[in-house]
Amino acid sequence: MQTKETYGLVLYNRNYREDDKLVKLFTETDGKYMFFVRHASKSKLAAVLQPLTIAKFILKLNDEGLSFIEDYKEVETFKAINADLFKLSYASYVTALADAALSDHVADAPLFAFLQKTLSLMEEGLDYAILTNIFEIQILERFGVRLNFHECIFCHRVGLPFDFSHRYSGLLCPEHYHKDNHRSHLDPNMLYLVDRFQAIHFDDLRTISIKPEMKQKLRLFIDDLYQTYVGLHLKSKQFIDDLGTWGDIMT
Ligand SMILES: [Zn+2]
Repeated sequence: MQTKETYGLVLYNRNYREDDKLVKLFTETDGKYMFFVRHASKSKLAAVLQPLTIAKFILKLNDEGLSFIEDYKEVETFKAINADLFKLSYASYVTALADAALSDHVADAPLFAFLQKTLSLMEEGLDYAILTNIFEIQILERFGVRLNFHECIFCHRVGLPFDFSHRYSGLLCPEHYHKDNHRSHLDPNMLYLVDRFQAIHFDDLRTISIKPEMKQKLRLFIDDLYQTYVGLHLKSKQFIDDLGTWGDIMT
């Protein structure tokens, strides 16, 4: 067993026996671990066991069995996210995606930083649907999916009104549309955005503004990518899809 001081994000917790809890943390230095918390409700740790809490933890990490949380400091909670059902459901979904993309006990500090930044920007009030799209596009690689949204798969030219081909798993320029009779017939401006999302810097995000119609196109295309290449069915994603339907009814 090794003692570590590291930032960590609570992915989820579940009850265990009478008043104990099992808590899954995504730590910055060591990846995901499961922790056992005895008498959770009376514990000094009670304040930091809720999902989407970030803190600096002092941990006893065990590679064989359960690990333990010794102490914590510097707690960060996302008040605006927790107060808004829509924000909360998107934040839960990106967190579940990070969880699904990562094996236990494998360090991934860049992913930790990316998730933390995405949540902070949602908290700050930036467009949570677009932040989620960017997260989905950039995390594809972690699922072993490498797609090039920048150039034509045949002639490698860039900056053209591209379409997407499932047959070739890549872009076709107008000169090569004919290579796939079943090309997707997508809006080239939507694919241009996906290309930008793949390499975007967070500071550019503050200037990006996307119309609802374009957001809908992005949602459909990214759903299609995840269905075809990742095959993941997360409850938190289903919840977002259902929320969309209810949102339509309410407006
Ligand atoms: Zn081409």
